[in-house]
Amino acid sequence: SSVALSRIGLAGLAVMGQNLALNIAEKGFPISVYNRTASKVDETLDRAHSEGHLPLSGHYSPRDFVLSIKPPRSVIILVKAGAPVDQTIATLSEYMAPGDCIIDGGNEWYENTERRMREASDRGILYLGMGVSGGEEGARHGPSLMPGGSFQAYENIKDVLHKVAAQVDDGPCVTYIGEGGSGNFVKMVHNGIEYGDMQLISEAYDVLKHVGGLSNEELAEIFDEWNRGELESFLIEITADIFKVKDEHGEGELVDKILDKTGMKGTGKWTVQQAAELSVAAPTIAASLDCRYLSGLKEERESASAILKEAGMKDEVGTVKMSGVDKKRLIDDVRQALYASKICSYAQGMNLLRAKSVEKGWNLNFGELARIWKGGCIIRAVFLDRIKRAYQRNPNLASLVVDPEFAREMVQRQAAWRRVVGLAISAGISTPGMCASLAYFDTYRRARLPANLVQAQRDLFGAHTYERIDRPGSFHTEWTKLA
Ligand code: NAP
Repeated sequence: SSVALSRIGLAGLAVMGQNLALNIAEKGFPISVYNRTASKVDETLDRAHSEGHLPLSGHYSPRDFVLSIKPPRSVIILVKAGAPVDQTIATLSEYMAPGDCIIDGGNEWYENTERRMREASDRGILYLGMGVSGGEEGARHGPSLMPGGSFQAYENIKDVLHKVAAQVDDGPCVTYIGEGGSGNFVKMVHNGIEYGDMQLISEAYDVLKHVGGLSNEELAEIFDEWNRGELESFLIEITADIFKVKDEHGEGELVDKILDKTGMKGTGKWTVQQAAELSVAAPTIAASLDCRYLSGLKEERESASAILKEAGMKDEVGTVKMSGVDKKRLIDDVRQALYASKICSYAQGMNLLRAKSVEKGWNLNFGELARIWKGGCIIRAVFLDRIKRAYQRNPNLASLVVDPEFAREMVQRQAAWRRVVGLAISAGISTPGMCASLAYFDTYRRARLPANLVQAQRDLFGAHTYERIDRPGSFHTEWTKLA
């Protein structure tokens, strides 16, 4: 036919798919789109028209859609993770040929990707599992992309990915992550780190509000100021904006009217499960997940607060007892506590990635991962450039906290960090993320831990044996006979 074939195709036109398709078209790559429900195809066509006559063609049948793409075809799928991906692959692959490739851009469990990769390869179809971060805005104007799987499939669409990804000072926010489900796994850990960042920011807010007595207006100012320093990041920036929004239905700011119950979709839980699976400590990320669970118990928390008040514990112990707090110093301390806690959280995420990389032979490049997170994604931050450089200095870095630069920063901030956590504890304001990070730091930096006693107990009740610090071998003692 005389109709020109598209450079690429995209199936699944909800928030992410629609915006990514428009982004690709805007970068000059003619794109075919398809969605199970036809109305979303029309919606996308309307937007392509109104946003500047972008080169996008809509298709209502899977066959027409696939055949409208230039071979070897690259088809991005952005549907709900799980069974919908399998169904979409079944529908489309019927018309695909050997050498074509499927790119799943959803938040998929990495093992599903590895299974689909094997099934696709039986038919000669190449496969990528590509993490996409940045939400709606990122998808439309430049996301961070984490493609893993077939290197050939990556090569086939590299030109497109490099153009549509967010652009930072050292290149586009995309790199070939590695084989298998590595792209999905890296995106999953990115989300776990995102949980940690959000939790730590909410704790900083809690301490400043309840111990420091800061108003929303002051909080907005402080977060704006923080966003001009070492904490500069998307999440700090949007937090400042949140404090400025008035409630259109009543007095004051909207943030105070929002129900304190957090939603979640599963990637944080997977991160913590994987950390446990791989024997990697990730206490800050785990604390963030636990906090989401506890936040969900709103009714229970309300009755617990009444019971404990009746039992003699004042609500908001903090505001009552912390009247002597120097506000300026508290603000500066909280900034430092937040920064140091964040480094520990990233150290945990990176070490989880390293453990998985070793297990799977993915050969992940941690400096590159930090680099592609510098733009487009939710955790984008100036600080990621420092992480990139830490791994460039030493690709085998045991932990971010022992990189010479980060080590110096942690040590400089530890006094402020301890003051904030101590103050929060005496005020009865829970800061599980900051506490977990500090405990992680204090555990990791100590050459000797009380694990000797745990070993002695294990040997006493289970004859599990122990090693000694002064001679080789494994030992067992008849403890009860000697006691
Ligand atoms: P979504 O709400 O997760 O999924 C809706 C899309 O899936 C629609 O196109 C829907 O088609 C399609 N779908 C559902 N079941 C299907 C089935 N059985 N067969 C065929 N199509 C089916 O969409 P989203 O929020 O755009 O997210 C897409 C993916 O990106 C998800 O994996 C998500 O986790 C990930 N992600 C989302 C964000 C975000 O900010 N939203 C950010 C990063 C990553 P119909 O219109 O026909 O129902």
